[in-house]
Amino acid sequence: MAKKFQNFINGKWVDTKSGRTFANRNPANWDDIIGIFPKSGKEDVDEAVRSARAAFEKWRLVPAPKRGDILRRVGDIMVARKEELARQMTQEMGKVLAETQGDVQEGIDTAYYAASEGRRLFGHTVPSELPNKFNMAIRVPIGVAGIVTPWNFPMAIPTWKIFPALLSGNTIVFKPASDTPATATSLVEVLLEAGVPEGVVNIVHGGGGDVGMNIVRHPDIDLISFTGSTSVGRQISETAGGMLKRVSLELGGKNAQLVMDDADLGLALDGVLWGAFGTTGQRCTATSRLILHEKIHDVFLEMLIKRAVALKLGDGLKAGVEVGPCINENQRKTVQSYVDVGLKQGAQLVAGGEIPTESGLEKGWFYKPTIFTDVKANHRIAKEEIFGPVLSVIRIKSLDEGVKILNDTIYGLSSSIYTADVNTAFRAIRDINTGITYINAPTIGAEAHMPFGGVKQTGNGHREGGWTVFEFFSEWKTVYIDYSGGLQRAQIDNYEN
Ligand code: NAP
Ligand code: MG
Repeated sequence: MAKKFQNFINGKWVDTKSGRTFANRNPANWDDIIGIFPKSGKEDVDEAVRSARAAFEKWRLVPAPKRGDILRRVGDIMVARKEELARQMTQEMGKVLAETQGDVQEGIDTAYYAASEGRRLFGHTVPSELPNKFNMAIRVPIGVAGIVTPWNFPMAIPTWKIFPALLSGNTIVFKPASDTPATATSLVEVLLEAGVPEGVVNIVHGGGGDVGMNIVRHPDIDLISFTGSTSVGRQISETAGGMLKRVSLELGGKNAQLVMDDADLGLALDGVLWGAFGTTGQRCTATSRLILHEKIHDVFLEMLIKRAVALKLGDGLKAGVEVGPCINENQRKTVQSYVDVGLKQGAQLVAGGEIPTESGLEKGWFYKPTIFTDVKANHRIAKEEIFGPVLSVIRIKSLDEGVKILNDTIYGLSSSIYTADVNTAFRAIRDINTGITYINAPTIGAEAHMPFGGVKQTGNGHREGGWTVFEFFSEWKTVYIDYSGGLQRAQIDNYEN
């Protein structure tokens, strides 16, 4: 019997009002049912928002260092449970154990960072233009935050949002991806064990349209933090924009690694294999384009193909496995359809391009690591996010041409350049138009205490991570204290006409 899960609303584990449920399966073996989850609707969202709104009135008054103490305990519990949480995550979404351990670690780092921020949350004191008057700008909580997350970092991404939101004094209604509700449930359990009070955190399981959109359009949700696809991000932005809500969107990417003729090719090779095929290419920062200088193009490609076809596919819990499955049937179909498009538009398939037939992989959504060469900058596989193990190789003659191609997409999340020349590196840092740039490292590998996010259609100008995310989750309040005992009129009493 598969385990039955519930929503957590108003301090209690509860079923949906409608009683509807959905099953979630292991993408490496679809016979393995992870659990049966509530398929919630508007009435469940309404209940959760009421709970979060009531809890806000108390939580906002808890001193930020105390909120931080709870988040420190969250980190401690995650440390103790790291292995168990990582195993559950691999079983639920397929990426290999080393990667899900990293995913939990990112949550731990985020918890400790947030805990320490509880004793900072710095404001500003600024001199007044008038005598006997004191000016300061302080940070205050906002209200109820709607948190909508994807499945590819099922622990790290929710923690990036929930921990700073709570530390800043907001309460939460959390809708995780339908592909990773068990991991999300574990995160809520950790928060409760650490002492987050009743009503402060609420989780509502269910579909994007039923639960996600009802969170977005709920009049009593003050801010939305969303990570996911650009198309859903746009819908959220339209709805929430009309209601004048504060919205943070972290969306798609089409990231490129550029390898110059003076690069350390061994290093660049390790980088692109990790960047393109780690998490089966299902990272927002995944390397999906490889831009090679013509002088090293052929030799590098030969090295790359040899290593890519040798990558071991399988269940991420098994030792030695390097690449897990796609998340679900739809995602694998999308990957196959892009491979078909690549062939049709004239790119050369030099590795993969098919579903593996080895025994042991029949019941998972596996797809072979795939490489296309002779990709032109205007091919769809060079422009559109595929979100799978497909790498498009483009040949260039110069740094300027490489940067131009790298920038020629609607997205702007991550980027990478391999070069031994410091002048080339600094020109690339200046000219590449993405939110994140790596020098001599792959496009993936964010650290929790640094700003994370992208430009163009990758987002709407906010940043997660580091100190920047606290800007999103708190409001500035500007305070003037006049201790002169008289009326002092700014701009009027202190300057002569
Ligand atoms: P998605 O389909 O956009 O889903 C993301 C979340 O939104 C899920 O919880 C989903 O629920 C929900 N959702 C779907 N439709 C909705 C709607 N109409 N209104 C409100 N919520 C809705 O994205 P995904 O396939 O899970 O994730 C892959 C995408 O995320 C890629 O584009 C990737 O680049 C992006 N991503 C970006 C970052 C970043 O930081 N920039 C990080 C990771 C991933 P269901 O699961 O129930 O459908
Ligand atoms: Mg699943």
